[in-house]
Amino acid sequence: MYAADVGPQYEGERIRKNEFQVEFGGPDVSHKGELVTVKGLGEVEHEKITVSGPDLKDLPEGFSGPLFIKVEVAGEELEKDLEAVLERRIHQYINYIEGVFHMAQRYDIWIRIHKNSFKKGLNSLEQIGRILIDLFTAELPVIEKMSVEFITDPAKVQNLLVEALKVYKERDERIKGLREEDVDEFYGCVLCQSFAPTHVCVITPERVSLCGAINWLDGRAATKVDPEGAQFAIPKGNLIDLVNISYDNVNQVVTERSMGETTRFSLHSALSYPHTACGCFEAIVFYIPEVDGFGIVSRDFAGPSVTGDPFSTLAGSASGGKQNEGYLGIGIQYLTSPKFLIADGGFNRVAWMSSALKEAAVENLPPELAGKIATEKDVQNVDELTEFMQNAGRL
Ligand code: SF4
Ligand code: ZN
Repeated sequence: MYAADVGPQYEGERIRKNEFQVEFGGPDVSHKGELVTVKGLGEVEHEKITVSGPDLKDLPEGFSGPLFIKVEVAGEELEKDLEAVLERRIHQYINYIEGVFHMAQRYDIWIRIHKNSFKKGLNSLEQIGRILIDLFTAELPVIEKMSVEFITDPAKVQNLLVEALKVYKERDERIKGLREEDVDEFYGCVLCQSFAPTHVCVITPERVSLCGAINWLDGRAATKVDPEGAQFAIPKGNLIDLVNISYDNVNQVVTERSMGETTRFSLHSALSYPHTACGCFEAIVFYIPEVDGFGIVSRDFAGPSVTGDPFSTLAGSASGGKQNEGYLGIGIQYLTSPKFLIADGGFNRVAWMSSALKEAAVENLPPELAGKIATEKDVQNVDELTEFMQNAGRL
């Protein structure tokens, strides 16, 4: 018996600010993360669960602080390229626990433990580790050994994050150079339908999932190991819209998987039948009519964007599994895709980006545009942006 009930019925639960006993990560905590590493069978001590730093019972009510979840797995048939997909299951399985909420991924996680579950006895991260090991090994028999470490010590979290960022980057690099034209199938993911029941992610070699956690190679690895799981293959079919990039079979699969909510899906447009979003996106593209261009803001951007709306307000328009023209949730890696918003003009249409995102995209920015895309350091509102665009000769 666990200290809290466990099952998919708890997946959609939200825990509000005044309801949590303890919160880890989220927008107010700069250091947080989770990482799954595939190791050799001799290197993982099966079922070892460690808490390094203060545990739930040691922390004051309403506490908010750093956390790193380090998972190591081993198995005869377990391949390195499954790491990203396994890591995404941390999100899924933690949400299975009654009174525990998990959001986002990688360096961006946000976890809340409900006061009621804490009172009922969920007072150690070790209990969450036990549940994770049981769910992972039951659902994925390729995992023969698994250990989990929860680190709440701030200095340790910071060090682990530095190493993890290198790993995320390596994963992202592997996909570079592969084009949609080179492959016959894309991959879909419906893991987030527990929160956004009509949302479907379509992952192509040139379009990382909007959570940023699953690229095309990860999708392929996932379907090999668990064909019945949340990720599935989509034979792409025929390219029926050359401008917005839309494939007939992708449309059909999205129609089925979204229960008829979305029937046309552009892979590279924010304006015409855009890709839907759950709520996990790393960044949001939003249309600014005054300059006929886009702004792009990331989740960790504090304060209002150039239109005055902060990330959280824009997220309301971009999320929920519904197409909303002018709003597109994206993974940050999509900024480096050769097909980035190609239907709408790509970076030629981007007017404003938060400076951190502009840095992330810098290698993909046409050199002549680099100085002509404003950030929060250049302009504070749409009037100033209009002037900036005029001075840059873009309006
Ligand atoms: Fe899957 Fe998309 Fe959710 Fe990522 S955001 S877990 S790819 S449905
Ligand atoms: Zn999601």
